[in-house]
Amino acid sequence: PVVTRFAPSPTGFLHIGGARTALFNWLYARGRDGTFLLRIEDTDRERSTPEATQAILDGLRWLGLDWDGDAISQFDRAERHRECALQLLEAGAAYRCWSSKEEIDAAREQAKAEGRPPLFQSPWRDRDDGDLSQPHVIRLKAPREGEVSVEDAVQGKVTWKASQMDDLILLRSDGTPVYMLAVVVDDHDMGVTHVIRGDDHLTNAARQGLIYKGLGWEVPVFAHIPLIHGPDGAKLSKRHGALGIEAYRDMGYLPEALRNYLARLGWAHGDDEFFTSEQAIAWFDLPQINKAAARIDFAKMEHLNGLHIRAASDARLAQAAEDLLAAQHKPRPSPEKAAAFLEAMPGLKERAKTINELIDLAYYIFAERPLEFDEKAEKLLSEDTRAMLARLTSHLRNNTSWTSDVLQDVARNFAETEGLKLGKVAQPLRAALTGRAVSPSVFDVMETLGRDECLARLEDAAA
Ligand code: GLU
Repeated sequence: PVVTRFAPSPTGFLHIGGARTALFNWLYARGRDGTFLLRIEDTDRERSTPEATQAILDGLRWLGLDWDGDAISQFDRAERHRECALQLLEAGAAYRCWSSKEEIDAAREQAKAEGRPPLFQSPWRDRDDGDLSQPHVIRLKAPREGEVSVEDAVQGKVTWKASQMDDLILLRSDGTPVYMLAVVVDDHDMGVTHVIRGDDHLTNAARQGLIYKGLGWEVPVFAHIPLIHGPDGAKLSKRHGALGIEAYRDMGYLPEALRNYLARLGWAHGDDEFFTSEQAIAWFDLPQINKAAARIDFAKMEHLNGLHIRAASDARLAQAAEDLLAAQHKPRPSPEKAAAFLEAMPGLKERAKTINELIDLAYYIFAERPLEFDEKAEKLLSEDTRAMLARLTSHLRNNTSWTSDVLQDVARNFAETEGLKLGKVAQPLRAALTGRAVSPSVFDVMETLGRDECLARLEDAAA
């Protein structure tokens, strides 16, 4: 059975790269009846915070990447990591080293002076006469000759010269295990079969492979995925909007749209751009992961979000909008307004690429009089058009039926008598009723708002 995991370090928010790594692991497991686990790599006590852990859990939940079982804390497992360091010692795959920092620095300088790589080769590697009562570390006995290689599902076989690797410290002199050991022990104990992670960990994989071998354990399948770059091809940075996943929620992205977009960042299924998560789960596999870095494209991300908005049910969109309003500490719409919003949704969702746009398009529903007009609406309301709207208003007032079709007829007849095209009437009418230059069909808007509210808003605009 397939077991994957996402293993974030809780030193900040869940950013887009981490979210994609989590997504790939989730897709791989979910498509194979496998298990997707979450491990919080909180061994770095200085940089790990509970707030960051919470932000990561919240981000994964919002994105819909459910993990199996409880999140595992790496720090809590330190005792087990120590135990495995001793096991390596017993197996002859590790040794105790008493060299001081000064000795190590001096050896490195010496190697550099002699034109060798500045690696420290411990004199304790083949000795066992050290004083156990004195501070010392445990080091991995890495091969000194030949090659070390990793068989990677994305990168292929990657090889390093053994002479370029030094004997990694496994257990520090204070008895704390290093991260590299913890990862291997945890992945083994959690039964992880596939390690899918950023290719900044590729070199680590070489050393981790040695630890696996030293412990007599099977090495999992490694798949190191290329990093995400900004639109300009440079490493993704804050400048490009390398934001926490919650920033995308706040910008009005749907989680399924983000899952769709992130899946396409470095992985492809033919030419398919727009797909559901069920499809991605069925299709996802490692050979289709790109070797080259993926470039983020915000326009494409927004376009996909628009497609997912159109595909989503009206009720789901109404809920997403209400959640977003709540997250932004905006007031909850009244039941009447919520009902009107839902009713107008088919017209609204055709025109929105984000949930924020959807909310803004629905301004006419949520707003209280007097409306605030945006710049474009303001432009449509000249002195002349306001006067024209006043004349239209008296026609409307005489009209008792208030359905979209009837209202359109009234406007059309009025336009004819004024010698105007219908658009020349409808556009200022929209501006006056919605405060915006864009909305669903203005006659649908009128039906939604109802007679009294429409007439009141038109009077406001004429005044
Ligand atoms: N904790 C590491 C990170 O956040 C991931 C380690 C791993 O996946 O093996 O980059």
